[in-house]
Amino acid sequence: MNKQYLTDLKCNTCGQTYDINGSIQSLCPTCPPLHATLECVFDYSAVKEAFKANPLSKRRDMSIFRYMELLPVLNPDAHIPLQIGWSPLYASATGAEKLGLKHLLIKDDSHNPTASYKDRASAMAVARAAELGFSAICTASTGNAAASLAACSRAVHFPCVVFVPEKTPTAKLIQMLAYGAIVFRVEGTYDDAFEISIRACETFDWMNRSAGYNPYLVEGKKTGAWELAEQTGFNLPDTVFVSVGDGSIISGLCKGFQELAELGYVKHIPRVIGVQATGANTLVRAWNRFVETGALDIDTTIQPSTIADSISVGIPREGIRALRMVKAANGFMMAVSDEEILTAMRRLPLETAVMGEPAAAAAYAGLIKGSQMNMIDKNSTAAVFVTGSGLKDSVAAENAWRSSPLNAIKPGPNVFNMITRILKDTKIQ
Ligand SMILES: [Zn+2]
Repeated sequence: MNKQYLTDLKCNTCGQTYDINGSIQSLCPTCPPLHATLECVFDYSAVKEAFKANPLSKRRDMSIFRYMELLPVLNPDAHIPLQIGWSPLYASATGAEKLGLKHLLIKDDSHNPTASYKDRASAMAVARAAELGFSAICTASTGNAAASLAACSRAVHFPCVVFVPEKTPTAKLIQMLAYGAIVFRVEGTYDDAFEISIRACETFDWMNRSAGYNPYLVEGKKTGAWELAEQTGFNLPDTVFVSVGDGSIISGLCKGFQELAELGYVKHIPRVIGVQATGANTLVRAWNRFVETGALDIDTTIQPSTIADSISVGIPREGIRALRMVKAANGFMMAVSDEEILTAMRRLPLETAVMGEPAAAAAYAGLIKGSQMNMIDKNSTAAVFVTGSGLKDSVAAENAWRSSPLNAIKPGPNVFNMITRILKDTKIQ
């Protein structure tokens, strides 16, 4: 049993601790909802001993489960039998040159089973739901989390129910249906779907995987930081860019970097920079207020509107913790417009050979803007997390490449004349 590593669930605001196997498995009951996120607490000295006895360099499991002692799963055999994590890290010389960087690293999480970073978190939620004895797991999602939960649940044949907003992209809906989840499409926004999921979980006693509500997601999401460290030989980049919707992925990455320092693997952690869409910039506004006044609060009245569906969140449930974590990582929050996201969607595959969905491209848009506006040091090393595949949202992809030439040719004796004529006007890139 793994119990000696995960010790408590602790409220991020009041510090109250709760039994990891107790009845409180979502929010701290005494704090206001957006401030009530629970955090997994680990016995790091025990983890340190375990890592000394069984060094990472000798471990053969090339998935998130190689970090088992740092995961909130008590049964060490409770793997989700899918290849989750240990996604490729690419160095892009072209991207680095164009952006004036020393090195540009692309962490490509489109390689996960459902082509999204969310698989890292869903695996934790499903494993924990099963060991806590819930009858089913449920989530509200803009699309990726639900698709991911459907796959992870299917892998261990655990019942899965999802609530998604009506604007969820078709490819993501197809994934949920393919894996046999019970899908409810809500005529409303993600925030409407979230409220319904909470009530459904209370009514039917299901575990809720929704971000900012389930305390185990962040622990799966932190594994990207650990992989980045191992893949760079513990020579972490100066800055890390990641897009932000509810704030859960960025909280996870920050926690992973903190742990790397805590356990003595690195001396310095990267500045972690969160990128939101201008039309869903609740946390950028909250960050600016936080920096100016020290007050941590979230305006819940913003109606999100952006092409980046994965980060189209009006009420970031994990936001308060995310802002605290970004501050501790000496980072900041910034916004990019939909136009900048579309430009980044086109530039990302041309410059790095990785294609991202709009939310993933938002992180690259943040890096482009950050380097143009001297928000980061020239000649430094930056990493961008590509959190979802470019094929996850085909409508957005069509919009991004609508103006790209599709050279129509007809078979026949003149075909090579046509090809030659077109090639004369085309720059082979
Ligand atoms: Zn509390």
